[in-house]
Amino acid sequence: MLTTSEKYFNLGQFVVPKYNQEALAREWRFIWREPALAFYRSKYSSKGLIPGHLPAQDQIPITYARELRQDEADHPPYGTHRAVIPETARELSVSQDVSGQRFLRLRSERDMQVHDDILAGTLKTVGIQGHDLVVHVSLQSLGEPAICRALHQINATSFPLSAPVDDHAAEGHLALWRRLRPRVLFTSLDVLIRYLRVASNQGIRMRDVFSGGCVVAVDSPLSPEDSLFIRQLSDGGTPVRVVDVVPEVPAFIAVDCSATGGFHLPSHHLHLQVCDPLTGRELPCGEPGHITVSSVGLDTLWIKYDSGREGVVDRSLCECGHSSVRYTPIR
Ligand SMILES: [Zn+2]
Repeated sequence: MLTTSEKYFNLGQFVVPKYNQEALAREWRFIWREPALAFYRSKYSSKGLIPGHLPAQDQIPITYARELRQDEADHPPYGTHRAVIPETARELSVSQDVSGQRFLRLRSERDMQVHDDILAGTLKTVGIQGHDLVVHVSLQSLGEPAICRALHQINATSFPLSAPVDDHAAEGHLALWRRLRPRVLFTSLDVLIRYLRVASNQGIRMRDVFSGGCVVAVDSPLSPEDSLFIRQLSDGGTPVRVVDVVPEVPAFIAVDCSATGGFHLPSHHLHLQVCDPLTGRELPCGEPGHITVSSVGLDTLWIKYDSGREGVVDRSLCECGHSSVRYTPIR
């Protein structure tokens, strides 16, 4: 029998259950009890799974983003898969899911706080410090208000801007930054590429504009070309850190590993597995498959949700010193 201190640990102001059979059993009971979750009951019933009996993890099928979008199309506007419903949501936003489709994101107060805490920790990990001026541009995957809150939490100064609509607007941003001297640019890859092109045309080096470098948030697996581009930029003297985000899952904010080229996912709230997409069976460390996550202690519900990434997982201690689980995407 575990003691209370072994079963729980604290993150911020919440008590978070560890991911184990007991936590999964609670989420399992919740699915069958909560009227709003008809999608999961139908999906699991069709596989012969039943309310009172927690199946072995390998028996639980993977859930894909495209199924959730189909559920919303069949039961507009919200679908029947949401544990956070309009009545319990504190924040609505639109983003793009891992299948590339736009979707409506509903977050409860608790999930917002979890997201903000993990994002604040990530911003510190990539080197953002108190009193830094951080320009952040058009980051729908994380949500601009969330970035403002996380920067506030670590006492950095936030400067949100909308994406430049054309090169002329990007020139205006660069001219402003050369006067203000922000330390970090935090944006998406496509927006960064536009700034780099405009800067190059004007003979401006990004490392002379941002002394702390650039942080890129990506919301879909990086292509080999993207990875090469980021490495070349870093080799050219502009430090670039990559944050890998699954926009629909509040706690999925992974940060690049300085030693291995993989990503570390904070394990509070999320359990990461690599699964065989056909059978749903968990694969051993080092074997490639679909990277899935299951949640504990979030108001939104994720059980073996496909992150849209293929890769391998490694739970050994990493030489970079990061203690959380690491995955390496296969490109
Ligand atoms: Zn590492």
